[in-house]
Amino acid sequence: NNEEAAAKAAAVDADNGAPTIFDKIINKEIPSSIVYEDEKVLAFRDVNPQAPVHILVIPKLRDGLTQLGKAEPKHVDILGQLLYAAKIVAEKEGILDGFRIVINNGPKACQSVYHLHLHVLGGRQMKWPPG
Ligand code: IMP
Repeated sequence: NNEEAAAKAAAVDADNGAPTIFDKIINKEIPSSIVYEDEKVLAFRDVNPQAPVHILVIPKLRDGLTQLGKAEPKHVDILGQLLYAAKIVAEKEGILDGFRIVINNGPKACQSVYHLHLHVLGGRQMKWPPG
């Protein structure tokens, strides 16, 4: 389908070094609602929230991490930092009693932006299984 074809093209572009919209957010070229920021990690509200709390946690440096499936041993530290930042975000948002972390990996998982990101979702009763 069209969405999958667009995602596949975006994945190829990103792997060839093309920037994504998240670079503009990191560089503050476009506005975002930042929830947490440190040297390595940025967290901001998703523009199309799927829950009352929906925040994206990303590495400031993509470093080849267009998707989790491209992770290498050199990425272990940043992967841990992203997960810990997700916990800090959940705590700040008051959803430590129930939240979900999602990583969509690749076109078949509906990944649309090819710069690794964790979705932090909460603020409502979550359902299982996800779609
Ligand atoms: P993915 O589908 O897992 O790749 O998630 C990408 C997410 O980025 C989607 O939930 C989008 O709503 C979100 N998104 C895309 N552009 C922006 C933006 O400019 N600001 C905030 N979120 C965005």
